[in-house]
Amino acid sequence: MKRKNFYSDEEWRKIIEFSEPLQTPFIVINLDRVRNQYKELASYFPAAQIHYPVKANPAPEIIAELHQLGSNFDIASIYEMDKLLSMGVPPEKMLFGNTIKKASDIAYAFKKGLRLFATDCLSDIENIAVHAPGSQVYIRILVQGGETADWPINRKFGCHPMSSITLLEKSLKRGLIPYGISFHVGSQQRSVWQWNEALISVSQIFSLAREQGIHLEMINMGGGFPANYANKTHSIKVYATEINRYLRENFNDQIPKIILEPGRALVGNAGVLVSEIITISKKSRSDSHRWVYLDTGKFNGLIETMDEGTKYPVVMAEENEKKRVGEVILAGPTCDSVDIMYEKARYKLPLNVCSGQRLYWLSTGAYTSSFAAVEFNGFPPINSYFIGK
Ligand SMILES: *Cc1c(COP(=O)(O)O)cnc(C)c1O
Repeated sequence: MKRKNFYSDEEWRKIIEFSEPLQTPFIVINLDRVRNQYKELASYFPAAQIHYPVKANPAPEIIAELHQLGSNFDIASIYEMDKLLSMGVPPEKMLFGNTIKKASDIAYAFKKGLRLFATDCLSDIENIAVHAPGSQVYIRILVQGGETADWPINRKFGCHPMSSITLLEKSLKRGLIPYGISFHVGSQQRSVWQWNEALISVSQIFSLAREQGIHLEMINMGGGFPANYANKTHSIKVYATEINRYLRENFNDQIPKIILEPGRALVGNAGVLVSEIITISKKSRSDSHRWVYLDTGKFNGLIETMDEGTKYPVVMAEENEKKRVGEVILAGPTCDSVDIMYEKARYKLPLNVCSGQRLYWLSTGAYTSSFAAVEFNGFPPINSYFIGK
């Protein structure tokens, strides 16, 4: 993996200098990159409202940066809501994007001023009607895309597209405002076409709803936009161009209000996780690969290596293309044998690499620090540091 494909020499030098005196493991987040990603995405979708899903990286520094840029937010729990409120984000800038929520949490969010809720089933609609009367709701539908996403999230949430009509009618009957339809094509979605498949369903639902006298106004196209990992994807620009074309094709000149919830695409590329090699071993003299054990693993930052789903670029501080390399298995420090990051993927490291040296995991700004266990094996959750501006 070539660091130069991800970082210029100058920016890399800054990361190395900043991280040198710090004790591993930790993540360095470059807020300049978050800002640039936000601006880029916003420029490609000038009419859309961006709601940053706080779960991708809930660091106050990131929230503050995005808030300042004018971003809205997608919250998954009242705890995320409280955090945003305490930072001065008004409730009108939030939506409750989690379809799974307690009645008491709906009531709490409503009391604090939140008025836009995702939903995907009758019982949740009933709870919203009782505890957040008169609020706007949008129906999350099931869509395809699991096969072409690195991190599928399109099975647990959402209802069958045709059930959405029943749910919209129920919402209306219970005094709620049926506002729109949402979907999520799967995180790190490699096939832009999946947005078209989803939008075809959505446009059918819009027509069917209209026949029932329900005028929907909004499409929440969720996340799924890519970060830069080991396997290359199209640029955000290509995604945006295609998706804007699908919108025009499916809705002609009556494109509804658009909400986007990019998590990975906004913060993924901004992070570098710095880890240290604890030890290197071979299981037998004839073993063809080395086991490289690091001070970071699935339980302190790298959970998305589960099933080797997300393939982070892993590099050393200095690149030397002449050095001979060999295959390694990368594993974490805990006493749990699931704590192996890459075994099948066969990452390569120089043959002379040794314990005490650092490995840098690029594009680790999303779903890392917020996914760390609190005290498994006594290891603390991973720290983050922020640079930029
Ligand atoms: C996780 C999530 C997102 C963010 O997805 P990315 O692929 O990281 O952009 C957006 N919306 C909802 C509802 C989510 O659950």
